[in-house]
Parts: sequence; structure tokens; C-alpha cells
Amino acid sequence: MSTGLAGMPASPGIVDGQVHLLRWEVPDVRHRIIPDEAIPGEIKRFHQALETASDRLRQVRARTEKHAGPDEAAIFDVQLSILEDGELLRQVEELIQQNLGAEKGFDLVLFEWRQQFASHARPMLRERVGDLIDVHIRVLSILLGLPDHDPVDLPKGSNKILVTHDLTPSLTVQLDREAIIGIATDAGTRTSHVAILARSLGLPAVVGLREATQRLNGNEHVILDGTSGVLVINPTPAQIVTYRERRAREAAEVTELQAMATADSVTLDGHWVTLRANVDLPEEAEFAAHSGAEGVGLMRTEFLVVGRATMPDEEEQYRAYRHVVEAFGGRPVVIRTFDVGGDKLPIGGYPTDPNPFLGWRAIRMCLDEPELFKTQLRALLRAAMHGDVRIMFPLIITLDEVLQARHLLNEAAAELDARGVEYRHELPLGVMVETPAAALSIHTLVDDVSFFSIGTNDLVQYTLAVDRGSANLASRFTPLHPAVLTLIKRIVDVGVAHHMEVAVCGEMASQPLMAFALIGLGVRSLSVAGRAVPLVKRIVRGVSVAVAAEAANAALESRTAREAEGELRRRLLSAFGDAAFLRDGLPGFLDGNIFEGSGGVNASSAHE
Ligand code: PEP
Ligand code: MG
Repeated sequence: MSTGLAGMPASPGIVDGQVHLLRWEVPDVRHRIIPDEAIPGEIKRFHQALETASDRLRQVRARTEKHAGPDEAAIFDVQLSILEDGELLRQVEELIQQNLGAEKGFDLVLFEWRQQFASHARPMLRERVGDLIDVHIRVLSILLGLPDHDPVDLPKGSNKILVTHDLTPSLTVQLDREAIIGIATDAGTRTSHVAILARSLGLPAVVGLREATQRLNGNEHVILDGTSGVLVINPTPAQIVTYRERRAREAAEVTELQAMATADSVTLDGHWVTLRANVDLPEEAEFAAHSGAEGVGLMRTEFLVVGRATMPDEEEQYRAYRHVVEAFGGRPVVIRTFDVGGDKLPIGGYPTDPNPFLGWRAIRMCLDEPELFKTQLRALLRAAMHGDVRIMFPLIITLDEVLQARHLLNEAAAELDARGVEYRHELPLGVMVETPAAALSIHTLVDDVSFFSIGTNDLVQYTLAVDRGSANLASRFTPLHPAVLTLIKRIVDVGVAHHMEVAVCGEMASQPLMAFALIGLGVRSLSVAGRAVPLVKRIVRGVSVAVAAEAANAALESRTAREAEGELRRRLLSAFGDAAFLRDGLPGFLDGNIFEGSGGVNASSAHE
């Protein structure tokens, strides 16, 4: 009998294969007392384990360098230095001398170090806790003879489905795309960055499964359905056939949708809806540029920071931005300045607030770290020589921030002047509207920026007070809540009154039903995942603004998100007559639940 675990669809596609269970957690260690005569041997065993761990880390480092780059690989240097720390070695040896088994001695010392680092006044040291945990797990696994689980170890072509609790930065940089064909995690949500990364890599993913790592032992065959968010454990032959058929249908849909790339993005009643792509990694640029996108509506720049030990310099950033700008050959490329913090934490150097989403992040951090910010601004000004670059600031809540950011941009320009470096002098500046504060005071920003882009992932989170990364709250993360729709409408109305471009670049824009709602609310610019461009274009071309507006008004007047969903669904289905392509075989940018009317996916399990 097979079991199905329901999670959240994070990245579309259906794959089946053997599980690669990655239990990256500190194992339980028994208290073991050794006789005096065993002490020298135990100390030797401890040293051998450290050597084995160092060898493994060096291998991991080398392979990471090869397929991800030298900066990503540098994460592991810190861990190597922990393994060589004289004080750590001394403390463990002392406990072994007191007749404790090596694994227990190491375990006790690491727990203590982790506690000390976690409460340290210096943020740099607090951030080292993640490295200590990695070392803790790695050395204990060796001492206890547990299987070595690094995903990087898999041979190419092994077609494994990685199942793990969560993808930490050090695991993410190790992901070998030629060995892993899908990702399933206990934690995470559709808008968490694991999900965004999986979509960028084009790897099917289901997140928020809550108990997948508990339910599996690593010997199973699974079907991972990233389109509807399900993991089927030990499927029957009949189920495999059914899923493979669906996969074939999805592939056919994708091909059919590709024909949309060259079609105009115009509604039935002749309104143009600008469709741009979100780019999270520079390597995605070429794919996105051929998807039919009219440019980039959101280039996230966190990839330059997250999971790294050091900040990128101006030159490295300039190269990355220029790459994307050139891929789009003159089409607009909106580049967002660092949105670090919240769930996008770098490896070192920044304090971790108790409430990171309400903490020192994004524009707040950049304004307080002017040198870091200006390095990025100089790189952007220079990259703008190669195309139509527009700069966007994240998490703006007040005009003061825009003015300060502009001031720093002027300083950055003056620094380039002083160096005699070429750059573009006039760049459009825009802001992300992603807090109720910005939405409600949007009229205060109109005179000082050139465009608005609504970040619905955060706007929903902050409006509803629902953590976007919490699997437990996923069914409460409802973009169609009347409060969210009212705020979007307000932003659009103010923007239109001032002839200002108002785009939406959150995940909402990538989902057909929501895109329909946004068009109805008056949005004329959507920035969506590269892979969703043809699908959203199909929606644009299949509806009229008149019908969308009527649907959006009905949604706005609804008392609940569920009611709003019903109003929109009914009209979208009738606009398309046969809505088969909206229900099934979609390349996954539609949450399966939208047509079930559940308002969210529950991570309960179902048996067949
Ligand atoms: C958003 O908040 O909607 C957004 C697009 O930005 P991010 O997902 O990177 O926070
Ligand atoms: Mg955001």
C-alpha cells in the first residue's frame, strides 16, 4: 500500500526515483564510560575522526568550488578551522582523560560552545553557530559510524529525490543538480527561499511536508509531484503509470505554452499587460530572456550574499548584473538592492534579531551600512551602461528611506567620478511596496520615485501577520483576503492617478487566478517566475479587462478570501470555457488547492 504525504507545491514538475534521505541533525549520544587503559586509544580515535571530517570537508569544498564557485566554497573554510581549534581539542581530550567516550566528550563540548556562541555579544560569533552545528553533526556521525549523508557525494545521474528537514545554505551550495532530480522538505512554504531557489534551478519541489523525514527510512521509491505538492511513498505500478502520463501531459502543455513566447501580451479587449520575469540567479537570465518576458521585473541580488562567508566586491557584482542586463539586450531590468535578513540570512556578520522579519533587514540594513550599500550602487550604476537598468529598494516604509538611499546613490556616483569610471547618470528609482505602511502612505512616495512594485509575498505576510515561511500557517496565508485586495487596489489607484507604473512581482502574479484578479484590480505590469511567463500570458490573452474588473470588484466585496476565490474562479473558468489546462497538466504555478476551494493545503497525510 502506498502512502501520500501532502505538502505545498513549491516548484512544478513530476519526478519519481529513490529517496536520498538527508538527516542533517545532531544524533543522540549515549553516556559511555571507558576504562583507564582505553583512554589513549580513545584519544587516537577522536583525532582520526577529526582527520576524516577534515578530509570530507576538503572534498566537499573542492566539489562545491567546481560546480558552485569559489565564494560559495569558502563557507567550508570556517568549519575546517573549527576542526583545528586547539582549545576545542584540549577540552574534548580533557573529558576523555576523565573516562568519557570520545563521542560524548565531543558532544558535551560542542553543546557548550554552541550555547556560548549563540549568546555572544558579537554578531559575527553568533553567526558561527550554524558552522558549529555542521561540525557537530559531521564529527559525531563519523564517531558513531552513521551513514555519511552529504548530498554532494551522489554520483552524477543517480536520479535521487532529496528528502530533508530544511535546506540550509551549506546544504544548498552542495546540491549537485546532476544527481538530484527533486527536493522534498519538512519545513518551508511556497514563498520561502528554498522554494524560490528550487524554481530557479528548475528542480521539482514539495515543501512543508512536516514529517517526511520521520516517515521515511531512505529505502523508499517515491513520486514527487511538485505541481500539486504531494509525495507518494512506495507508489503502486498503476500510480507510477498515472503520474508518468501526467508528466507527459505537463510536458506537452509546456511545449504548447512556449508558443506563447512570441505572442503579444494583450487582453481580449486590447489592453497591454507588461509581463516581465523574476530572476533569482544570474544563470536564469538566458532562459527568462527567451520565455517571452519583456524584461526583468525583479532581479533579486541576495544570491550574491546568502550562504557566503564574505561580501561580494564591486567588480563581482558588476559582472553579475551586467550578465543579466546583456541577456535582456536593452529590455528593462529592475534590480533590487540587497534584501538580506528575514529568511535570507548570510552566513556571517549580521546580527540575528529575535524577530528577523520585523528586524534589521533590507533597506534598513543597507542604510546603516553605507559602504556595503554604496558598493552595490556603484556596481549597478556601472552595469547600467549596458542596458536599461532600474534600481528598486526593498521594504520601504517611509519617504525618508528613499531620500537617504538617493543621497547614497549620489555619493556612489561621485565616487565613480573621482575614479574616472564610466556609469549611467540618470536611472529610474522605484520602491517595493510590501508593507501595509507603504501601501497606506503610498501617496507620500509618488513624487520621489519612478515606479512601484508590489511585493505580495511580504505584503500578505505583514498585513495578515502570517509568517510566510511557516508550514503550520500556510492555509492562513491568503492573498485574496479583503485587507490585501483593498491595499493593492489603493496602491494601483494612487499610481494610476499619478501616471506611475505599478507592477506586482510577488508570487501572486505567477498564479493564474491571482493574475486574473490583479489585472481586474488595474495592474498592468506583472513580474513572474520565468517558467510562468507563457502561462500568465495565456491568461492575459484569454480574458478581457472588463470581465477581470467585474471579477475583482466581486472579490473586493467578498467577506472572506474563500468567497473572493469563488467569485474569481467562476469567472475565470467561464472565460476559458474549457478550463482543463487550468486544472491539470499545468506547469505548476497554480496551487492545486485553488480549484479545490480549500484556501490552503493541509499537510495531512492520505492513504490509498
Ligand atoms: C515579495 O515580498 O513579494 C517579493 C517579491 O520579494 P521577496 O519574495 O524576495 O521578499
Ligand atoms: Mg519581499
